[in-house]
Parts: sequence; C-alpha cells; structure tokens
Amino acid sequence: MPPIVRNSIIPIGKGFGAINLFGILFVKPDMRLTPELINHERIHTAQMRELLYVPFYIIYVLEWICRLVQCRGNSQKAYYMISFEREAYAHGADLDYLKSRPHFAQWRKHPQKIHSNK
Ligand SMILES: [Zn+2]
Repeated sequence: MPPIVRNSIIPIGKGFGAINLFGILFVKPDMRLTPELINHERIHTAQMRELLYVPFYIIYVLEWICRLVQCRGNSQKAYYMISFEREAYAHGADLDYLKSRPHFAQWRKHPQKIHSNK
C-alpha cells in the first residue's frame, strides 16, 4: 500500500482526482480509491523507481506533448497514449502484475485492454 495523502489542493485542477508524486499518492477528498486504482499508481511507482524518479516526469511530460500534437490537441486521447499510462491501464486490474513485471515494461507490448477506467 503506497502512502496516501487525502487533501483538496493536490492534484491541482478540478478534473484530477489523484496524482502520484515520487511514490506518494495525493488524493482529493471525494476520490474513491479502488484496489485497481491503487495498483495503477503502484505501477507508476515501479516505472519511476526504474527511471530514478525525475527522468520519469521529464519523459512523461515530453511524451504527453508529442502525443498531444499527434492527437491534434485532444488531451484525453493523448493522455491514454502515453507509454506509462498504457502499461498502467493495461495491467491495473491485475493485482499480481507487479510480481512479474518485466523491467521497462512501459516500452514493451501490452494486451489490448485500455480505457477501462480513468
Ligand atoms: Zn496513470
């Protein structure tokens, strides 16, 4: 279980319910935390650890910008196309996934199962 900080400030912006900052989960008061969501965030923590944290955020933002261009400004579509999110959405429901996750799995192929939750 990751450390969880319930608060009304982070993540900034009305449309966001939870954000993982260096392995700590910041969650809005009304956000429902499911085992799948927690697992999704734990997958991000595994990705971060492998990339030594700060490079994870740099690559994440750069890829998001590239995907935004690719998706002609559709930010939601761009978000789902980010490699880190593809992995986390493809395996979020598999609560045992992290036991056998290959290194740098965000850049490997995933089963076609994304967009199942947000
Ligand atoms: Zn995510």
